[in-house]
Amino acid sequence: MKGKIVIDTSMCKGCQLCIGFCPKKNIFLSSQLNAKGYFPAQADTKKVCNGCGICALMCPEAAIEVYRDDEN
Ligand code: SF4
Ligand code: SF4
Repeated sequence: MKGKIVIDTSMCKGCQLCIGFCPKKNIFLSSQLNAKGYFPAQADTKKVCNGCGICALMCPEAAIEVYRDDEN
C-alpha cells in the first residue's frame, strides 16, 4: 500500500514524535521556522510512504493528514 501525508506546518510544534515513529523514515524537520517559532516536520517526497497512519496517530497537534492509494 502506498500513501502520502500532508503536514499543516503552521500547527506543528517540532516535537519530532512523527519522525521517530515513521517506519519508512519519511519525515524530517524543515530548516525553516514556522510562525510559532518551531522547525516543523516535513514529508520527504523522495521516500515511500506506506500510508500506515502512525505519524498522524502520534501527532499531539493533529497536524498530519494521511491519504492512501485505495482512498484516492
Ligand atoms: S503514514 Fe506511515 S509511512 Fe507514511 S509518513 Fe506517516 S508514519 Fe511514515
Ligand atoms: S508529531 Fe506533529 S507536532 Fe510533532 S513534529 Fe510531527 S507534525 Fe509536528
